[in-house]
Amino acid sequence: MKQSQLIAKFLYPQPKYTLQDLESKFPKRSLPEGAVVTRFAPSPTGFVHIGSVYASLVSERLAHQSQGVFFLRIEDTDKKREIDDGVSEIVNSLAQMNICFDEGSTSETSEKGSYGPYKQSQRADIYQAAAAHLVANGLAYPCFCTEEELSKIRESQEKDKLTPGYYGQWAAHRNLSLEQIESFIKSGKAYVIRLKAPENTGVKVALNDLIKGHIEMPENDHDIVLLKSDGIPTYHFAHVVDDHFMRTTHVIRGDEWLSSAPLHLQLFSYFNWPLPYIAHISPILKMDGTSKRKLSKRKDPEAAVSFYHEQGYPDQAVIEYLINLINSGFEDWRKANPSALNSEFHIDLQKMNGSGALFDIVKLDDISKEIISKYTRSEATENSLNWAQKYNPEFYRILNSDQSGSPSDPKEYLTQILSIERGNEKPRKDIEKWRDLPAYLGFFYDSLFDKNVNEICEILCPSQTSENSKSIFSKPIDKSIIVRCLKEYSEIFDASDSNEQWFDKIKAMAVTLGFAADAKAFKAQKDSFAGHSGDVCMIIRVAVSGKPKTPDLLQCLQVLGKQKIKNRLLKIINTMV
Ligand code: GLU
Repeated sequence: MKQSQLIAKFLYPQPKYTLQDLESKFPKRSLPEGAVVTRFAPSPTGFVHIGSVYASLVSERLAHQSQGVFFLRIEDTDKKREIDDGVSEIVNSLAQMNICFDEGSTSETSEKGSYGPYKQSQRADIYQAAAAHLVANGLAYPCFCTEEELSKIRESQEKDKLTPGYYGQWAAHRNLSLEQIESFIKSGKAYVIRLKAPENTGVKVALNDLIKGHIEMPENDHDIVLLKSDGIPTYHFAHVVDDHFMRTTHVIRGDEWLSSAPLHLQLFSYFNWPLPYIAHISPILKMDGTSKRKLSKRKDPEAAVSFYHEQGYPDQAVIEYLINLINSGFEDWRKANPSALNSEFHIDLQKMNGSGALFDIVKLDDISKEIISKYTRSEATENSLNWAQKYNPEFYRILNSDQSGSPSDPKEYLTQILSIERGNEKPRKDIEKWRDLPAYLGFFYDSLFDKNVNEICEILCPSQTSENSKSIFSKPIDKSIIVRCLKEYSEIFDASDSNEQWFDKIKAMAVTLGFAADAKAFKAQKDSFAGHSGDVCMIIRVAVSGKPKTPDLLQCLQVLGKQKIKNRLLKIINTMV
């Protein structure tokens, strides 16, 4: 037996598996020609970054658009950063976004699929088999150097302006004999397993990155750590072993791993394993002043997936926004296929932006309001209630309160509100996210309306006006006229009026109060009128809602109902006079 085989046997006297065992335990997957196997491999640290969802979406779509497999692997080798329910957090975030995986961890303690375990912490035997194989073939070795010895090496290298690291002449333990190893171990010394890298080759390795293209980088010549002293693998080793035995065909990951790709290629070749395709995704960027920077977990609330839920963006909106960042052609596709499922859009890695897509919340808002505008009445109601229940309990309580004079069922009242200008050819698009709801439809609820009565009076009849203050009317209107207008209107409103009847009544009332019947007539003789009938509508609109802009006024009035309108107008009148 060769010395290296004896060392392997000494270090791993009774390995659970050999590499051959693992090859048969995890056979090549039988999938249709061209099917892609991808994975999402997060650490369960409790923070799900939107960039991770972005990367996982790329992987999921590539797998599923090719009849392949997408799996979730939990990279829990750093126990210090891990939180208790980190796996559930990831699983739930993916589920909420409708990103479905075929195999992998389904909770802290459960998983599905036959290429597991899918948690790295449960794969020690597999890593050991792989390490034993490399040691037996003289491609890896145990290193007993202590922290102090390593610092000394680093110091000398720094002094001589050499690249720091454990390599070449500095790799003191790369050729220990079996006897030396035995005696170190007997004396209780801890060791790591290091890769025996080729020495100082000066060779360049080429990587054909599916996103970044052809890249050449120096070959790795450092004896990097594969297994730490507690037997836990480093990312590099775990990635290569796992992606081989899980039969990943396409490794899609963040480009922070690009610089270590030569090491990974080397490891695959040491094992004689086929190389997967590799694609490095650039991070999502954000404008900061005039420069771009990565979306930061510390500085940017929108970096966290939880932000989108709290704000109440429909998951479909977030996903479609991310698809748009993946391939900008999605926008045109969506226009041409307004009702198709977004999963019908095929993404193409080569069309991804190699230097990082720019995050643009305005674009997300646009996509989101488009999606919300197409919800049916009941979808809008259900989604509103679900959001409020979770993220705005006080508003949820109001939505569920009895609205005297309105349908006795609060849900029915909310549905009526959300039905205004919905379900027609050109639905209204004022709700960007559910968080807008209190501002958008709060006025339909008396408890919220009542808080604004003073403010409403101030809008209708400002106590101070400056040169620059822009009136909501075509000209300032006298308080006494506003009061008369409100008084009369509370008498004439009839919920069953047609649009025409309703407006005719307003016009007639406007004329009796000294307004012009229309804007044209007003413009011709501004001094002779108090304003025009549009201003009368504005008075009513502001008086019942507190807002100069609302959905269709007649529909709002119909939903509010005669009694509420009367009460409100009376409150305003009483406060004004
Ligand atoms: N756990 C690594 C990360 O979160 C995975 C990288 C990969 O996808 O290989 O960055």
